[in-house]
Amino acid sequence: MNTAHDRATAAYLGLAIGDALGATVEFMTPREIAAQYKVHDTIRGGGWLNLRSGQVTDDTTMALALGSAILAHGRVAAQPVAEAFDAWMRAKPVDIGNTVRRGLLRFRETGQTEMPENEHDAGNGAAMRVLPAALATLSQPEEVVRLACRTQAHITHNNPLSDAATECLALMVRDAVGGADKYRLLHEHAHPLAGLHPAFTFRAVRQQANPSGYIADTVVAVFQALFDTDDFESCLIDVVNRGGDADTTGAIAGMLAGAVYGRAAIPERWLAALDPTIRSACEAQAQALVRL
Ligand code: MG
Ligand code: MG
Repeated sequence: MNTAHDRATAAYLGLAIGDALGATVEFMTPREIAAQYKVHDTIRGGGWLNLRSGQVTDDTTMALALGSAILAHGRVAAQPVAEAFDAWMRAKPVDIGNTVRRGLLRFRETGQTEMPENEHDAGNGAAMRVLPAALATLSQPEEVVRLACRTQAHITHNNPLSDAATECLALMVRDAVGGADKYRLLHEHAHPLAGLHPAFTFRAVRQQANPSGYIADTVVAVFQALFDTDDFESCLIDVVNRGGDADTTGAIAGMLAGAVYGRAAIPERWLAALDPTIRSACEAQAQALVRL
């Protein structure tokens, strides 16, 4: 029996596992991945960032920075979150997206916690880190969830497509943690998102390879992997072997699949391979955020 706590913890561990697994093949093509690994299904480090086995990247560490700021203030507030992101950047993360860097440098210079709306800032950097905002607002009305998503997102990304995806992913996590199966997520969230923004339209028959950091590419790859598979492990293997922005598609798919399938569905070999400090931080934050 999966409780909300169990599913929330699985979402957080899934995020980190997807990041650690996908980072090895980030920016590779499916053909290159197949030539090197046949099927990439082992947390082994390496990749263009030359990671240790089990090491995670910005996707997970930004989420943890957001989670810490939320827990310290009891809610999602722009100023403490911007300060936490800034401190995260000062600690020289292993990787950082251009839009994230630009937003945080602007915060340093001006103290402003909201970027002006920009049609070009439709990267996946705000969506990849949304999990703690979703877990902190599990029992709140939908509008409060959406506001929490935008508050953290707009520090670096202020874009309608980024917002729509970030809010959709948070609501999917909320409903899955509450017990919704993936068919409900498909009909109540994934299809309506594509209805509002055609960029998110996805077809099951056509595999999206080399998904880029553009939020629509990322979300389409994640939705195809989630809705074409029936368990946590297959979902993650499917999405990271598409290559491209594989740490981020892996992280987002792992978050959703963790919330849908629960803690017991996560392969023990992946849990054991994950950096132990990151693993306990994810577990501790998930528990504390759900209790807020
Ligand atoms: Mg990354
Ligand atoms: Mg990435």
